[in-house]
Amino acid sequence: MRIILFVLSVFLSMGVVAGANPVITTLFTADPAPLVYHDTVFLYTGHDTASVTATNYKMPDWHIFSSTDLVHWKDYGACLSPATFSWATGDAYAAQCIYHNGKFYWFVSTFHKSDANSKGGAAIGVAVSDRPTGPFRDAIGKALVTNEMTTDMKHSWDDIDPTVFVDDDGQAYVFWGNGSCKYARLKNNMVELDGPIITFKPEHYIEGPWVYKRNGLYYLVYAGAGTKPEMIEYCTAENIAGPWTYRGIIQDNVQNSFTTHPGIVEYKGTPYFFYHDGSLPTGGSYRRSICIDRMFYNPDGSIVKIVQTRTGVAL
Ligand code: CA
Repeated sequence: MRIILFVLSVFLSMGVVAGANPVITTLFTADPAPLVYHDTVFLYTGHDTASVTATNYKMPDWHIFSSTDLVHWKDYGACLSPATFSWATGDAYAAQCIYHNGKFYWFVSTFHKSDANSKGGAAIGVAVSDRPTGPFRDAIGKALVTNEMTTDMKHSWDDIDPTVFVDDDGQAYVFWGNGSCKYARLKNNMVELDGPIITFKPEHYIEGPWVYKRNGLYYLVYAGAGTKPEMIEYCTAENIAGPWTYRGIIQDNVQNSFTTHPGIVEYKGTPYFFYHDGSLPTGGSYRRSICIDRMFYNPDGSIVKIVQTRTGVAL
């Protein structure tokens, strides 16, 4: 006991904060999109409200949390919902918020009303704010991407899961898609596509792309079929336009959830991997929870397989 107390006191004196997964336990959260802004990690999430016996998603809104130690999270509540977009209806699917040109752009996937612009189906919208925690408003007044704008997949919900990446030269790109990966350049205003939509199929690709750059190498991380859906797999490329080279599986199936979803940031010099599982009590595939674990790279830039822990991370 004396030794345990000694170790504990050493840890406390070092300022180490113990973590635990899942990191959000007050509600069910999914599709993590972390953003580092100044010294804070802002975490943009979906929100699962399906009943324990439900067999489909019920996702009414998007939430924001922030933290400076990845253990204690401030809850800003529901900060955006499909109701913010006059053209939208239905669930609040995966989204990502990025900072560019002094504003915060929250790219979301939801569903389109049947109107003059679309017959319905999944669509991508953009909300904008001067602050990371809002208030956010519809940046366009219509969808950025409607189902009709891509026709390579025949299902009505292939245009989901946007991820946005701004390259070193300031050029922004949006990637998205279920069944195939799609991407396009964005104009500097962030609310118009700048050129054609390109579609391609990374190995085992299902959905949930996350694009970033590290040491001059582009990474495309996504939820894939792996050896049993879903696992997290990735490709790398020397050029954002590809060709993308498949690099393997970096996360196995998560606990108690069919889907998983990557979110990757480097914070205070350390890379972190955000994902969701169904491990909270009464959790499951439609009642998910966001977890964080450490991420490691090999000297050649390849990603070491993620170890899913119950202890989470600590700074
Ligand atoms: Ca489509």
